[in-house]
Formats: sequence, structure tokens, C-alpha cells
Amino acid sequence: MKRPRARRCPTGKFRHPDETAARMALQGYHRGRRPRRGEQTAYACTSCGGWHLTSER
Ligand SMILES: [Zn+2]
Repeated sequence: MKRPRARRCPTGKFRHPDETAARMALQGYHRGRRPRRGEQTAYACTSCGGWHLTSER
């Protein structure tokens, strides 16, 4: 696994470089990690220019 050399976002969330990476992370969430019902959405962050995942209830 290679780590992105991106610095963290002021929000403290994990920063994804682009929408594709964010969506792949979403799929990884549902596959490998804890399956949650609340869907997560990828959105572009205006603070760091990256992408984050948000969970909606
Ligand atoms: Zn950000």
C-alpha cells in the first residue's frame, strides 16, 4: 500500500485526491470494513481541494 503524500485537511478527515479515489474508498468501506446502512457520499472539499466522505443518516 502506498500512502498519498497529501497533507491532512483542516477538517481532520481523510483526504482523497480525487473523486475516483473517494468512490473507491466508499466501495472498500462496504466490502471490507463494517457494513453500515447509512450511505456515504463523496464530496469535494473547499478547504484542501481534496475529496472526503460524509455519512448521512
Ligand atoms: Zn478537505
